[in-house]
Amino acid sequence: MTAVTRAGYGDIAIYSTPGRECTIDLSDNINLWGPPPSALRAMQAVNGNSISRYPPAYEPSLRDALARHAGVAPGNIVAGCGSDDVLDCAMRAFAEPGDILCLPAPSFSMIPIFARTNGLVPVAVPLSGQLDADVDRMLATRARITYLCSPNNPTGETLSRDAVERIVDGAAGLVIIDQAYVEFGGESFTDLAVSGRVLVTRTMSKAFGLAGLRVGYGIGSPDIIAGILKARGPYRISGPAEAGAIAVLAKDQSWVAEHVTETIANRVRFRRELAQMGFEPLPSAANFVLVPVTNRAAVSLKLYDAGIGVRELRALPGIGDALRIGIGPWHLMERCLAALAGTA
Ligand SMILES: *Cc1c(COP(=O)(O)O)cnc(C)c1O
Repeated sequence: MTAVTRAGYGDIAIYSTPGRECTIDLSDNINLWGPPPSALRAMQAVNGNSISRYPPAYEPSLRDALARHAGVAPGNIVAGCGSDDVLDCAMRAFAEPGDILCLPAPSFSMIPIFARTNGLVPVAVPLSGQLDADVDRMLATRARITYLCSPNNPTGETLSRDAVERIVDGAAGLVIIDQAYVEFGGESFTDLAVSGRVLVTRTMSKAFGLAGLRVGYGIGSPDIIAGILKARGPYRISGPAEAGAIAVLAKDQSWVAEHVTETIANRVRFRRELAQMGFEPLPSAANFVLVPVTNRAAVSLKLYDAGIGVRELRALPGIGDALRIGIGPWHLMERCLAALAGTA
């Protein structure tokens, strides 16, 4: 048989979500209250033209709305088909095949995969004992791209400004700061994104409740934005997705803020109840909580039997096995707590 596959792709797995059905899915950190009403209305009002015609090539109206939201100029914004797309394009735009991409461990599971599909070599540096970035070891990799995530997925903890600034100052190439969960806590690093070597990414998939529309964005200097647009190409945001995202940014900021507030309250309460049951959940600034477990298989079986899906993580550096549990309306968290009873 002729080899048609690209070198290095043989051992990259196709992303798979857990096969088992669950009635309560707390596994993927989306907004569990559902879509914001203005997005639903925008979808129902979709004009035939936005289906039969190409959308604007580089979505100027969406970039204007995102820029206003982020407090930067439209020239500092690039949108993508989810922030995954922005991250993937940045790897293509700012590193050559064979270059190193440095990331903390544990961190966002897609990053080593995007690195490898772009021909880069992912080098994972364990977080420090305080779950902050290990600045010296990360800088010592001389990576062409350094990836940071704050609040970090899956730990939920934030990186310190001191660590982030030292990495930005000392890095050999682009620094990506993934802030997919910034609405739920921790500091915004958007101020660093104007420096010309930093890309901050954010998404409409989590706090904004639009995971299905696939809209994410990056914030950076005009040169960074231009590089990503080249790697990305035109027409990446569908017309209906652009309309939905603009509607939410214009009309549903208070809907988003209310659910963020409720998420934070439920997160505090959920962690407190877990602790009372004997678990030791990590502190979280995100819309999920990481719960180390020593009997992962038994605990997840109980959750599955109760129809509850969570994200199982194995042998995380410095943490061990753990469950990442998304935070939603309290009646869902109660069901999760009931299923966990007696398993700590
Ligand atoms: C969910 C998530 C994303 C990306 O989500 P999109 O839906 O592609 O915007 C990016 N980074 C982290 C850390 C995430 O958890």
